[in-house]
Amino acid sequence: MAVAQGDHRRARVAVGLAPPVEQWFAKAARDLPWRRVRTAYGTLVSEAMCQQTQVARAAPAWTAFMRAFPTIQALAEASEGSVLEAWRGLGYYRRARSLHAAAAEICELHGGMVPSKREALLALPGIGPYCAGAIGSIAFGKREPIVDGNVARVLMRVHGRNVDGASPAGSKWLWARAKEYVDGAKGPGIANEGLMELGATICTPVGAACARCPLRKVCVATKQGSQDRIPLPRKRAVRQVLHTHVIVARVAGHTALVRRGEQGLWAGMLFPPTVESPRAISKRAVALKFGVAQSELGGGAAFEFMTSHRAVRFRVWCASDSASRLLKKSQGSEWTWHSKAAVARASLSSAMCKVFESAKTAARARRGRVVLKAQ
Ligand code: SF4
Repeated sequence: MAVAQGDHRRARVAVGLAPPVEQWFAKAARDLPWRRVRTAYGTLVSEAMCQQTQVARAAPAWTAFMRAFPTIQALAEASEGSVLEAWRGLGYYRRARSLHAAAAEICELHGGMVPSKREALLALPGIGPYCAGAIGSIAFGKREPIVDGNVARVLMRVHGRNVDGASPAGSKWLWARAKEYVDGAKGPGIANEGLMELGATICTPVGAACARCPLRKVCVATKQGSQDRIPLPRKRAVRQVLHTHVIVARVAGHTALVRRGEQGLWAGMLFPPTVESPRAISKRAVALKFGVAQSELGGGAAFEFMTSHRAVRFRVWCASDSASRLLKKSQGSEWTWHSKAAVARASLSSAMCKVFESAKTAARARRGRVVLKAQ
């Protein structure tokens, strides 16, 4: 009986949540480029960009991307290199490749129109339940729920409940609340976007500005004063260490690059040849792996690069001219050799930029030593 009463109360609260958020959002929405003229294609691009990138960084990138590929057909027909180039600075390049593949599929299977049905959206590369809900509701006005980090936090606080969104039970609870919420909305797209905006600007992880919140009258957390305890802080996953030794080899101004595998870090991207291991790697092992003498590898600059799950410990080795020529002969077609301009175009990840920066510094130092010796 107690459960049934709780359910009734929650349902009553849920029905009343969307209208105040919609009214608030009509006045408080940030001016973002994809909000000025709404299109399904523009929404697809903005949702892909905002998944793991802050809105402030995504906004200028979205404008430039839409200028480069104004239609879904233009995106589908573009080369992968130009799409990755337009994604520069946003990181997580897998999203750009998925978006490119999704555009091709939309042109092939849906006549170049972003589909509105959830099942069709979910079948596209890179589109999960959140993205399908966002596109369905924002671009097509469908009564589709969405749950992302911002929405989850607001829903938990409003209902005064801590759940683990990563667990099946927690995820089920959140999606059920998001569905109740959007079912009570006048405009599902505005309501969903408003809830995300509320989580990003008012009900933030570091503090809830309840006095300015349109949900303060019904919010359980603000009544209980439990905002700071909902959601519970997540235990930080221990980052795995990955030792990555990189060889920078150049012949006649052309640098060796290798296409990385489809899984893992910098998946599918061109990168200088590497040796990777969870254990420390010696210079000797690197030289052995590539069949060159240790003395032919200069530099050795070290830097650490953090990703969400890994601490990547780089060492950058510069092959001498003779070792580079040897490598060009001994390594197969897997290694491709690129001009300075092509390397600059391919240097999309900040890790790769740092690798080449280290190689440049090492080359400068080597030249300095040669000059000193000559004196
Ligand atoms: S009242 Fe406070 S805790 Fe509740 S949703 Fe609004 S900002 Fe968050």
